[in-house]
Amino acid sequence: MHNITLIKGDGIGPEIIDAVVEIIKAAGVDINWDIQIAGADVIEKEGSPLPNRVIESVKRNKIALKSPVTTPIGKGFRSVNVQLRKELDLYANLRPCYNLPNVKTRYDKVDIVVVRENTEDLYAGIERQVDENTAESIKIITRQASERIAKFAFDYAVKNNRKEVCVVTKANICKLSDGLFLECAREISKNYPQIKFREILVDNCCMQLVQNPNQFDVLLLPNLYGDIVSDLCAGLIGGLGIAQGANIGKDYAVFEPVHGSAPDIAGKDLANPTAMLMSGIEMLNYIGETDAASRIKLALFETLNADIKTFDLNGNAKCSEFTQAIIERLKVLAKC
Ligand code: ATP
Repeated sequence: MHNITLIKGDGIGPEIIDAVVEIIKAAGVDINWDIQIAGADVIEKEGSPLPNRVIESVKRNKIALKSPVTTPIGKGFRSVNVQLRKELDLYANLRPCYNLPNVKTRYDKVDIVVVRENTEDLYAGIERQVDENTAESIKIITRQASERIAKFAFDYAVKNNRKEVCVVTKANICKLSDGLFLECAREISKNYPQIKFREILVDNCCMQLVQNPNQFDVLLLPNLYGDIVSDLCAGLIGGLGIAQGANIGKDYAVFEPVHGSAPDIAGKDLANPTAMLMSGIEMLNYIGETDAASRIKLALFETLNADIKTFDLNGNAKCSEFTQAIIERLKVLAKC
C-alpha cells in the first residue's frame, strides 16, 4: 500500500485526475490517496489557495500526484504551482516529450527531455512598481541552483542512456545571470565526458526546434525559458493534452502535467487526460510499480491506436469515454 497525496486542482483538474485515479485502480495498484483540495475554491474558507495542510501532506507522504491549479493573471495570490515547488524545494522540472502512437504531428521520432530549473529566475516573484509608469522584475540565478540542476540533467542523461545535454540561455544579453547558469553547466559537464555537451541561445533553439526537433536530446534551461520551450515541445508532439511532467527534489516528488487548468473546456468532459495519465505512469515507475506502469502505458497506446482519441487530437471521444476505453483494455491485458 502506498500513501500518496492527491492534489485536486481546478478547471479541468478534477475531471482528469479522477480519470487517472480510476485507471490506476483498474491496474490493481494499492494506493491510499490523501486527497487535498487546493486553488481558487479554498481561498474563501482557508485564506490561501495553498493551505499549509497541502504542504504538510506532501511532506508526510513524500510523493504527490497533482492536477493543474489556475494561476490568475495580474494581482492576487502567488501561483500555487510556483509556491509548492519552492516550499518543497522541487528544484528539477522534468518534462519528457516524445511522439505517441497514432497522434499525427509534423515530425516523427521526437524524443526530447526538457530539464527546467524550478526554483528561481523571474519566478522568484521579486517585482516592484517603480512609479506609475514603470515596473521591474528581478531575475535571480544562483550558482548553487544552477549547479544542482545541471548535475540533475547530466545524471538523468547517464541513467537514461541519453547522448547529449544542450544548455539553453540568452547569455549574450543576460551576461551575468544567464552567464552564470551557462558557466555552471560548462563546469558540471566536465564531470560527464561520456555525455556530449552543447550550448545554444534560446531564440535559435526555438527556431531549430520547429525546423528540426530530432537534433535535440536533453535540454537544460533556467526556469522561464524552460516553461516556454516545454510548451513549444508539447506542440511538436500533438499539444498540451499529452505533455507529461514531474517536479523532483531531494526529498519529495510531485507529478503533474505540463498544461494549465484550461478553463475554456472545464466541466465539459472534453479534456484529454493523457498528459495527467503519463505523469501518473511516471509516478508509478518512481514508486517501483513498474509492471502496472507498463500495462497502463500499453493500454493507453492501444486505445490511441484504435483511433479512440479526444477532441484536441481530432478525435470525438469524451474524457470519460477515453478513460473507459483504457480501462477496458487494462481488463483484457490482466487476463493475458
Ligand atoms: P498555465 O499558464 O496555467 O500553464 P496556459 O495559459 O498555458 O496555463 P492551459 O490551461 O495549459 O493554458 O491551456 C492552453 C490551451 O490548451 C487551452 O486552449 C486548453 O483548452 C488547451 N488544453 C490544455 N490542456 C488540455 C487538455 N488536457 N486537453 C485538451 N486541451 C487542453
